[in-house]
Amino acid sequence: MKEFDADIIIVGGGAAGMAAALTAAKGGVKTVLVERGDFCGSKNMFGGAIYTTPTLEVYPDFVREAPLERGIAKHNYALLGKNDGTVFSYDEGIENGYHAYSVFRPKWDRWCAKKAEEAGAYIVPSTVVTDLIKEDGKFVGIKTENEEYRAKITILADGVNSLLAKKCGLRKPMEPKNAALSVKQTLSLSKEKIEDRFNLDENNGAVYTIMGGPMLGITGLGFLYTNIDTISIGVGITLSDLNEGEKAPYVYLEELKEHPCLKPLLKGAEVKEYSAHLIPEGGYNAIPQLYFDGLVIAGDAASLVNNIHWEGSNLAMISGKYAALSALDAIKKNDFSAKELSSYEKRLNESFIIKDMKAYKNVISSIENNSDAFLGFYPEKINEFFAAFTSTDSIPKRQKYRSYILQTLKERNILKLSVDGIKIAKLALEAIL
Ligand SMILES: Cc1cc2nc3c(=O)[nH]c(=O)nc-3n(C[C@H](O)[C@H](O)[C@H](O)COP(=O)(O)OP(=O)(O)OC[C@H]3O[C@@H](n4cnc5c(N)ncnc54)[C@H](O)[C@@H]3O)c2cc1C
Repeated sequence: MKEFDADIIIVGGGAAGMAAALTAAKGGVKTVLVERGDFCGSKNMFGGAIYTTPTLEVYPDFVREAPLERGIAKHNYALLGKNDGTVFSYDEGIENGYHAYSVFRPKWDRWCAKKAEEAGAYIVPSTVVTDLIKEDGKFVGIKTENEEYRAKITILADGVNSLLAKKCGLRKPMEPKNAALSVKQTLSLSKEKIEDRFNLDENNGAVYTIMGGPMLGITGLGFLYTNIDTISIGVGITLSDLNEGEKAPYVYLEELKEHPCLKPLLKGAEVKEYSAHLIPEGGYNAIPQLYFDGLVIAGDAASLVNNIHWEGSNLAMISGKYAALSALDAIKKNDFSAKELSSYEKRLNESFIIKDMKAYKNVISSIENNSDAFLGFYPEKINEFFAAFTSTDSIPKRQKYRSYILQTLKERNILKLSVDGIKIAKLALEAIL
């Protein structure tokens, strides 16, 4: 039998891969992580915020040491009509610390890579893994353009596209409805202006989850995060809706920036950076088999994303950690079989990851199938209600409310409204029961 070059090889230096590398190296085994970018994070982008509790599970010192932007203190939910909007805002009590922090992936990922290296992991940058080595039905390592590296266990954490998983038949190609294309701009704006415009104390940050506006009626959401002296703003729209529509994704983003509810917040902000990335949208039903002889799959490559809450980095970090823990157990027993590595799935099943994904398993598909109603008709109706409620125009209030109700019934009859109500109640019950 050939010698192994490493105990554990990890493909991809993103959120999942680096958590796996740190955990494996801490476990005292020879750990190698291969990343195609010049450094870990160089090719990565997200909205985005990392979440404190799961991040602490992997990086206990991150609040003190890591390059963080702002602690999230304000959560805004904007339901945009064509030219108007209703914004709900929740201010977190932050006396016990922040639940989330905005970060930039290149800086954050670089810091995570340093932590993995300090623990003893060996990181190989600028190297694309081109194939997996399979012998006698078992995975025993990876191929790059010039080399082959053999490992007892491979952790596949190569992100949403996971070309390797597709190439090796471990995952079906993603359907267009199961992936969203996200485009994002980073806009520079002074620290003072950000704090004034978003009504923030120093170091505090705000998030917007945005529905409607240019995306009325299609399966797409917008996001906005404040950083120290920049704003991250973007949209994510399913590939199926982009294919059906006529607009390019960046057009939706430009239109969103011009929406009257957001434009004043962004006045004078200059585009510093533009990026695009896919997001897995398939949820629980799209999770592939996660363990094989000699291999496990973690993070986006395994479709582990909770889109309803913009959660992905936390699922990636924790699944990467669990993948490494199961690999360490297997190495201790000198048993790299799928049966032994199934403990990875068990760990995931017992955690918030699979529990949350199960709870929301039908939400995205239901929204997609009813996007004209849930992401079009209702956001507009909420705005129309507030337009009637806030206008003082000498029309008797009762008359206004009656005409609002009659108009609503004319546009969507009582049967359709009831069916929508039942669908929403069913999804809510699935989430809580
Ligand atoms: C627009 C957007 C907004 C988001 N907002 C948030 C948010 O606010 N909060 C949150 O928690 N999550 C958010 N997410 C989700 C989150 O970014 C992902 O779920 C998370 O990054 C997944 O981590 P990962 O390690 O699986 O994949 P990635 O972080 O994508 O890492 C994969 C790595 O593998 C490398 N790689 C790929 N192929 C190869 C190969 N063949 N050889 C070598 N290396 C390879 C890549 O270069 C990359 O470094 C967002 C995602 C997007 C796109």
